[in-house]
Amino acid sequence: MRQTSGKSNRGRKPATQIVMLGTGTPRPDPSRSGPATAIVVNETPYLVDFGPGVVRRAAAAYSKGVTALGPAAGGIKTAFLTHMHADHTAGYPDLILTPWILGRKEPIEVYGPKGLSAMTRHVLSAWKIDINNRINGIDSLPRAGCRVVTHEISPGVIYKDRNIRVIAFPVRHGLKHAFGFRFETPDKVIVMSGDTAPTPSLAEHCVGCDVLIHETYSRQTYEKVSRKWQRYRRTHHTSSTELAALASRIKPGLLVLYHRANAGGALTLADPEEAVLREIRQHYDGRVVTAHDLDII
Ligand SMILES: [Zn+2]
Ligand SMILES: [Zn+2]
Repeated sequence: MRQTSGKSNRGRKPATQIVMLGTGTPRPDPSRSGPATAIVVNETPYLVDFGPGVVRRAAAAYSKGVTALGPAAGGIKTAFLTHMHADHTAGYPDLILTPWILGRKEPIEVYGPKGLSAMTRHVLSAWKIDINNRINGIDSLPRAGCRVVTHEISPGVIYKDRNIRVIAFPVRHGLKHAFGFRFETPDKVIVMSGDTAPTPSLAEHCVGCDVLIHETYSRQTYEKVSRKWQRYRRTHHTSSTELAALASRIKPGLLVLYHRANAGGALTLADPEEAVLREIRQHYDGRVVTAHDLDII
């Protein structure tokens, strides 16, 4: 597990830790779970996206010392969703139900785009046989533990407490409602792109950014996919060269690559991870790393 110490907290545990729970894409790569990131501030976790595998990765992070997540992800009480795509939401029933079954007694609060409330209702409805059985049967689980309080968000400040302020900004991803997030904590400014093609709104929200966590795809593999998929990538995602240009302008303290798509030629590349890093470094001389599941930043 990689550790990068915060610049203002040398020698002691930083107030803010970023735990990369899932760094994958829709492709079911066993080593990269669906998109999910925990930002832990003063031992309080804030989850961003809940792709498939989120609860198991949270349990793995707990075993590796991120105790704030709680065993069986029961410590996660607040979550933010960038957009409604399945690779970012397929872990939702898991997030609602599994920690409850294993002991969570309080509702969770989820902030996300329009459609989140309906999705939540449908998830609870789809599992109602199990939910009712666990409440009324031998388990006698408290109903409150599988309640979800949803907040459908608009751009601007969407959340604030004593640990963190969260600002949502619109991104370009072929959906009416898709967001990136800026997180301001006592010792870090973290910007997460969500899924997006290059958009001015992201750069506007990167002032003073310590860590930029950004999706990307390899330019080299782009050349190997069909014209249709090239168009899709151009209009929905950000290439390595586009990201390098963005990072050169905004100069984040650290650039972290996640949701790294290498479809097309990737499977034939000897080292797809190194390939995309090389492409970025050709045009960007700041600090850049590729995220792996369970990295801590
Ligand atoms: Zn998406
Ligand atoms: Zn995605």
